[in-house]
Amino acid sequence: MARIGFLGLGNMGQPMASNLLKAGHKLTVFDLVVEQCAPLADQGATIADNASSAIENVDVVISMLPASEDVSLLYLGENGDGLLDQLSTYTLVIDCSTIAAETAREVAAAANDRGITMLDAPVSGGVGGAVAGTLTFIVGGRESGFDAAKPILKDMGKNIFHAGDAGAGQVAKICNNMLLAITMTGTAEALQMGVDNGLDPRVLSDVISASSGGNWAVSTYNPYPGVMENVPAANDYARGFLVRLMIKDLDLALGMADQSTSYTPLGKLARRQYEQLRERGADDLDFSSIQSLYRTE
Ligand code: NAD
Repeated sequence: MARIGFLGLGNMGQPMASNLLKAGHKLTVFDLVVEQCAPLADQGATIADNASSAIENVDVVISMLPASEDVSLLYLGENGDGLLDQLSTYTLVIDCSTIAAETAREVAAAANDRGITMLDAPVSGGVGGAVAGTLTFIVGGRESGFDAAKPILKDMGKNIFHAGDAGAGQVAKICNNMLLAITMTGTAEALQMGVDNGLDPRVLSDVISASSGGNWAVSTYNPYPGVMENVPAANDYARGFLVRLMIKDLDLALGMADQSTSYTPLGKLARRQYEQLRERGADDLDFSSIQSLYRTE
């Protein structure tokens, strides 16, 4: 079993850390918001006062932070005083946050300069997948690092992919999330049109799920209230994958598309839809709340 320093205990980090504890690993955890750590203390984790204490004498560091700036600041610091300068060369660093591929490459290169192996390992599967331990991990970095990380990632997930070198995990994740925003928006649009024309959204969802329009949004994370239990739509869109994080991912996607001169008209349209949702004050609701843009009653 590994000694793990886990940083960032938000909607995703908390259940991920909890599964590592259940698998028998020894965890020291830290979050900037101290209350986020309490549920893990109850499960046997040690709570650190700061990030530096959380990574003392550990074999593996795992981070699950909101955005590129957070990851860059944590590992590189403002004046070269980041965590990378405090880690031993035997420590394996796994960043599971969704961030710009460019930032992931920059931090991994700085780790490499110090003889430390660092992987980008963003996840897919949402809070439900994090709780159930069925996340998909999409890993970028050297093969040897991937092999070392796999048994630990297996304790939090089901499908573990090696996408390529440093940053490749982020590229794959961002392509996936741009498509997710597009399919979620399209699903909300189709469900509302059916309801406006007299259909029961549960019947329509069953039909679409078994037909050629079927997709993850309709069959696993349905945005229409009353269709499914245990999804954010059943709980006023509380928690889940927040609108502000989806907008961050769409910005990462469109930034990447600009650099590679890729044609992404639907990604741009989805970004505009999510901007409208944000203007209605939905930043801290789950991204399936895009349904409310379409609801007329
Ligand atoms: P969140 O905002 O709920 O949690 C992030 C946590 O990190 C917060 O508790 C915050 O206090 C903490 N934090 C920030 N900077 C820190 C630092 N320097 N040290 C320690 N703690 C710090 O976000 P989340 O929903 O858990 O998402 C985390 C990442 O996973 C994001 O990049 C997101 O895009 C990605 N993601 C989220 C989902 C989802 O469904 N929520 C799914 C897949 C991927």
